Amino acid sequence: MIPIIHQLSLNENHSPALPGVREAIESAADRVHLTLDALAAELSAEIARDLGVDPAMVVAGAGSGALLQQFLSAHSGPGTAVVHAWPSFELYPVLIRNAGAAPVAVPPKGHLQDLDALAAAVTGETRVVLLCNPNNPTGEVLDGPRLARMLDALPPDVLVLIDEAYREFAEPGAVADGIALLGDPRVAVVRTFSKSHGLLGLRVGYLVANERVAAALRPTTPFFRVPTVAQAAALAALRAPDRMRAQCAAVAAERDRVRAGLVELGWDVPPSGGNFLWLRLGGRNQSFVDHLAANGVAVREIAGAGVRVSTGTPEANDLVLALAKEFAA
Ligand code: PMP
Repeated sequence: MIPIIHQLSLNENHSPALPGVREAIESAADRVHLTLDALAAELSAEIARDLGVDPAMVVAGAGSGALLQQFLSAHSGPGTAVVHAWPSFELYPVLIRNAGAAPVAVPPKGHLQDLDALAAAVTGETRVVLLCNPNNPTGEVLDGPRLARMLDALPPDVLVLIDEAYREFAEPGAVADGIALLGDPRVAVVRTFSKSHGLLGLRVGYLVANERVAAALRPTTPFFRVPTVAQAAALAALRAPDRMRAQCAAVAAERDRVRAGLVELGWDVPPSGGNFLWLRLGGRNQSFVDHLAANGVAVREIAGAGVRVSTGTPEANDLVLALAKEFAA
């Protein structure tokens, strides 16, 4: 078997560590034998200050995946349903079933998420509508007005959880800011340090919602604690917003460079707001994945619908482009 030389199937951020992160990890190492700050109070307070919200609205967790699970367990369950678009993050149906609820997957209209159909899929059983913005794996970005129209179409007792795992890679003016929608008590936003801040292996994310919705997650927090070292690294990363933004912009520029090269080949690759691209090669999806794998590049085929290629180092991206040209020839 050919070893994987470039791992482009996991949407990792290959930028260098943000300034201060290594030092924070090193100094937190002196405290790992002590009881940890279970609620990550300092980190939550700093996130709240940054966002301009009340600290009671912020819940830190061991990655946004854990927070999605906490939210779904707190706000849905047996006999209820959770509506989400498809294709979207592959874990959504798994997390919804883990919570005991029924996932309701809504197919796209053409190549875009069908927000009217999402609203129409809501029934008396629906507790949560789950939106991914930008959407993994398609990269589609929902802007503020489109999201606001969708909120208008939903009943008052349905919560809307907006997963913004990739928002920092999108054009700031083009992507809805979930935090700006928090005046609507149905809205909750989940974000992560895994992608934009490059802390995937440390497991830190946060959820922001009105106090009542957020408080319902706290009983599950003891099972999803953010470790001492991870809290320290996240705090340091939070204090480097300019570098974080510059590094995400560099990833986005690389993503767009790869897209331009693929579009030049005549391939169907929609614009993306994530650190990945979505390739729709029809019946050739699997053979493209195999062609890359045979040359040491791992990418992901999803839901039989397309191939997701994460943006890697410039060297990895050059290889993807060269292999795509070879494949197309
Ligand atoms: N949401 C989306 C859309 C994702 O793609 C991922 C990870 N691939 C997550 C949440 C979970 O990320 P983490 O738990 O590392 O924060």
